[in-house]
Amino acid sequence: MKPTLFLSDMHLDPSRPDMIQLFIRFLMEHGSRAREVYLLGDIFEAWIGDDAVPADHPVLKAMRQLSDSGVPVFVMRGNRDFLLGDAFAETTGATLLDDPTAIELDGETVLLMHGDLLCTDDVEYQQFRAMVNDPRWQAGFLAKSIPERLELAKQARSESSSRNTQLAGERQEIMDVTPQTVIDTMRAHGVRRLIHGHTHRPDIHHFEIDGEPAVRIVLGDWFDQGSVLVYQDGDYDLQTVDG
Ligand code: MN
Repeated sequence: MKPTLFLSDMHLDPSRPDMIQLFIRFLMEHGSRAREVYLLGDIFEAWIGDDAVPADHPVLKAMRQLSDSGVPVFVMRGNRDFLLGDAFAETTGATLLDDPTAIELDGETVLLMHGDLLCTDDVEYQQFRAMVNDPRWQAGFLAKSIPERLELAKQARSESSSRNTQLAGERQEIMDVTPQTVIDTMRAHGVRRLIHGHTHRPDIHHFEIDGEPAVRIVLGDWFDQGSVLVYQDGDYDLQTVDG
């Protein structure tokens, strides 16, 4: 069986053209040979609305080429690109997934998340997340002009970076998932395998839920290395893409 690929946290941004090229090359070389490709959020460092990006954006074109070649591409929104919408899906041919989404892989149910929902110790962040995921807030934001949206996004970034500096000490703890929330979420969905990104701490964690073995696979980021999880014939392999 062909491999199924899971990636997240590319944080693609015009300031890092090398990363954009690496990602496009990855889609063409590896994505094209996959059974399915799952992109689990924060593909883009910022996304202020589908209408703010030209349809011939090289990343969107590469995703379109991949889906046109017959490889299903699934996209979950992250906390950076939570405004990815229907026009993006139409342009790329990708299917947008809710967070969380459960999929079947060779008979096993696997829960997919971006990962920020698991960081429940960061109460202030969860409040912000609830606000910007409210359809009314999103409609209001998207109704603004693109320059206005850019300005608001810039303000939000500088507020969040000063908050991160403030929290520098405790941030390490806060930025990781809350273990009890992981267990509660997996139990609620009746799964024993979870795949997510967001924390930039690639690892495969083995633990138990109600006496049964459970696994949480964390995807890494693409700042310094391309992190990709390859599933094939029952095996999960967390790999690094060669630049
Ligand atoms: Mn994230």
